[in-house]
Amino acid sequence: MDFDLSEQQQQIRKLARDFCDAEVAPHARELDRTEAFPDELLPKLFETGFLGASIPEEYGGMGVDYLSYGLIVEELGRTDASIRSLVSVSCGLAATCLLNWGTEEQKREWLPRLATEGLGAFGLTEPNAGSDPASMTTGASRDGSDWLLNGTKMWITNGSRGLFTIVFARTDAARGASGEGAGGGRSSGITAFLVPQDSRGYDGNPIHGKLGLRAGDTAEVVLRDVRVPDANRLGEVGDGLKVAFNALDSGRFSLAAGATGISQACLDASVRYADDRLQFGRKISSFQLVQALISEIYLDLEASRALYWKVAWKHMKGERHTVESSVAKTFCSEAAVRNADRAVQVHGGYGYSDEYPVGRYLRDARVTTLYEGTSQIQRLLLGRHLTGENAFV
Ligand SMILES: Cc1cc2nc3c(=O)[nH]c(=O)nc-3n(C[C@H](O)[C@H](O)[C@H](O)COP(=O)(O)OP(=O)(O)OC[C@H]3O[C@@H](n4cnc5c(N)ncnc54)[C@H](O)[C@@H]3O)c2cc1C
Repeated sequence: MDFDLSEQQQQIRKLARDFCDAEVAPHARELDRTEAFPDELLPKLFETGFLGASIPEEYGGMGVDYLSYGLIVEELGRTDASIRSLVSVSCGLAATCLLNWGTEEQKREWLPRLATEGLGAFGLTEPNAGSDPASMTTGASRDGSDWLLNGTKMWITNGSRGLFTIVFARTDAARGASGEGAGGGRSSGITAFLVPQDSRGYDGNPIHGKLGLRAGDTAEVVLRDVRVPDANRLGEVGDGLKVAFNALDSGRFSLAAGATGISQACLDASVRYADDRLQFGRKISSFQLVQALISEIYLDLEASRALYWKVAWKHMKGERHTVESSVAKTFCSEAAVRNADRAVQVHGGYGYSDEYPVGRYLRDARVTTLYEGTSQIQRLLLGRHLTGENAFV
């Protein structure tokens, strides 16, 4: 594994860092306070190419290598995790579904639009089917050459402000393989469809009052007789969970990179504050216990970065990285929560108000151990990989 970035990777990181410092960071507190969607920032994210970072140039994207994509996502995570999350879902989940499962026609139609025009969403979770997506009840029934989709999806990032949602729906009334617990290998009775959000019968209802990611669009998506042509099906009938879990390998990488960005932000804020703040007539950075908190942030940060870089390295060698993505997702997300908590501690009472950003880091970090497979689900996946025993069923 090469820890030296190429010249091009360094340039991309600098481009992302400068952009995030100039365009993202100054607005993060206000967007968080007002729960406002970043309408003004979005066109700039398209202009820089960041929303098409993982999409090959032949489909209108930036076509950067996987590590460069991770570096961009880390910088976004460092400055505003809400923005990072919308990019990760569009580039990491929606684009991956199309790239790996779309027909040439679907790719030519939708990928350039995803890179330049609108966001993609990934509709797997339902009100009563989270960790166990195989129990979903959203259904798709054949109507001539079309499908009619009915059901409700929950917690869908970009679900009300996007171009399309990849909707996973049951095409076989019988429950198939038991979700990620069964590895998605057998037919799940679930199929993936690309559903334009302006389709008749598609309603994206924004969810307000979230603990974090307040500037992001998270929606309940209601589907009432939404008509989708068979040409919008992704993958074979019954392959839906394979499509979803394959995309999650990429989504978890992106999430890990973004969580590493939160850890970096925690370190930067803590060093800065500890250098400014005086108690007992000295800088608090001179106290050993404050240094211990800062050193612990650094230890977790360094390990996080190495783990997500390892995923990138495997991907760039063309190797599968399901386990590595799961390890990186679990560690980096939990490290971000620990680090944000430490950063609040370093800031004392001031860390408890949004005069400083560390409270937001803690709220934003908290979701990373929940979505794209909770920490418990990751441990079951890793446990099955290590022991050969399936603890899901
Ligand atoms: C802000 C936000 C954005 C999101 N974005 C998306 C999105 O874009 N697309 C999408 O499809 N989903 C999205 N989600 C949904 C997210 O992936 C789910 O919330 C997550 O998978 C957990 O499902 P659940 O909330 O139903 O919790 P549950 O599955 O009900 O889990 C509740 C608790 O039980 C534990 N648990 C469940 N099963 C087991 C088990 N077998 N063994 C041990 N413990 C278990 C869990 O770990 C958790 O602690 C988002 C969620 C949030 C909060």
